[in-house]
Amino acid sequence: MTCNAQHLTTGNDKAEILDKWLCNRCEEELEVTKGQKPRSCPNPNCLKHGPFTALSGPYLYFNGEKFVPKRLADDIMAGNHFITHKESHVMYHYKDGIYNPDGEEVVKEISRQKLGSCPASTMSRRR
Ligand SMILES: [Zn+2]
Repeated sequence: MTCNAQHLTTGNDKAEILDKWLCNRCEEELEVTKGQKPRSCPNPNCLKHGPFTALSGPYLYFNGEKFVPKRLADDIMAGNHFITHKESHVMYHYKDGIYNPDGEEVVKEISRQKLGSCPASTMSRRR
C-alpha cells in the first residue's frame, strides 16, 4: 500500500489503533499498528516471517499486495441493507425503517472507516 500514513503519527488516537493478525504457522495472534504488516512472529518457538493472515483492519481486504474490492463490498453488504433503483441506478440505504438515496455515500463512508487512512477511491485509481 502506498497510502500516506503521515497523520497517523501526529499524536491523535488513530496512532493507538492496533490490528489483529494470525501467524499461519503457529496460529499465534499478534497485534500491529493499524495499516502495517507484521514483520515476524512474536512467538519465541516460531519467529517466522509469515505468512500472516489479517484478522482485522484494512489488510482483511488484501490478498497479499492486491486489494480485493469484493471482500470489502461483501463486508459492507453483510452489515447493511442496500437496494438499487433499476432505472436511475441510485443506491438506497436502509436505515431506521426507511430507504434513503444516500447508498453510495454510505458505502464510501464505511469504506473509509474500514480502510483507515486509505480511501478505497485512492486504491482503485492505482491500476
Ligand atoms: Zn508463528
